[in-house]
Amino acid sequence: MNIKEKIRIIEDFPKEGISFKDITTLTDDKDVFKYTIKEIAEDLRDKNIDIIVGPEARGFIIGAPVAYELGAGFVPVRKPGKLPYDTLKIEYQLEYGTDALEIHKDAIKKGQRVAVIDDLLATGGTIQSVAKLVEQLGGEIVSFNFIIELTELKGKEKLSPYRVHSLVKYD
Ligand code: AMP
Repeated sequence: MNIKEKIRIIEDFPKEGISFKDITTLTDDKDVFKYTIKEIAEDLRDKNIDIIVGPEARGFIIGAPVAYELGAGFVPVRKPGKLPYDTLKIEYQLEYGTDALEIHKDAIKKGQRVAVIDDLLATGGTIQSVAKLVEQLGGEIVSFNFIIELTELKGKEKLSPYRVHSLVKYD
């Protein structure tokens, strides 16, 4: 099944120079969506994953069904002010300004095996912040999994020496 064929590319969205990879044309196709989830789950199947962590919002769309498929738990990472209980927060640099993410303080137990999932790896800044939250809670990061990797932005190097797995790559 050709996953790349189902990803819609929108040039200059959300701003000039960005070639946006739209996965909604993949997730609305029942066969390709199922295939994509199964491919990610197969990659993680033998790794004894306790928890899948996914950042808002596309990390939820992909991460939760992978967790279900593996029989693992799912933990959301969200923008500030969205999670109702006590949270751990991390601020990180964007091209212009800063952003922040939160996780529930009791969401991961010490030593639990975690895979972090998002739709796309670009610079790796977002996912690196997610990793820091997981590790501050005592989780052990086993793998980072994405549908798409933008290789030119060298996110994989930023995440080294962690394991990074993606299904399709763009330059
Ligand atoms: P980064 O922190 O640079 O790795 O960017 C990560 C987040 O931005 C991911 O969660 C992606 O969903 C989103 N993103 C970045 N670049 C793109 C792109 N070209 N197309 C679609 N989403 C993108």
